Amino acid sequence: MVHDQRALPELTDLTAAHWTSGASGRLSVRRCVHCLRWSFPPSRCCRHCWSADFTVEPVTGKGVLLTWTEVRDPGAQERSPYLVAVVELEEGIRLLLGLTGTEPGALRVDMPIRLYFEHLGGDIWLPFAEIEELELPEDRLEAVS
Ligand SMILES: [Zn+2]
Repeated sequence: MVHDQRALPELTDLTAAHWTSGASGRLSVRRCVHCLRWSFPPSRCCRHCWSADFTVEPVTGKGVLLTWTEVRDPGAQERSPYLVAVVELEEGIRLLLGLTGTEPGALRVDMPIRLYFEHLGGDIWLPFAEIEELELPEDRLEAVS
């Protein structure tokens, strides 16, 4: 499947939750029923206890920025350059995804991020990260300025 010149993923029983859960506004991830650890990337057996019993649960969608790079792609001129980042969610899950709404010079390791989703068509929702703006109380804003 191709959307806007981008290949869309094929859904499988392992990957469907990742690609479709954005419809609810929250990323869902496989979680081991026995040891309660998250399974991402998804696998048939738990990497920690070898159980094959999983549930699919939503994660917070909040985390921190670990690293990033700016990609210049002459084949995607309308989208290039764009940022790709590795983020770590509060659950300890690391994701490689697009980072939007910011400039490379403004980024710092451990900045808070949150996930959002772009609907690509059909059941496919692509997760992106954006920097989460911290809302400081009014008295803190005055102290900073
Ligand atoms: Zn397990």
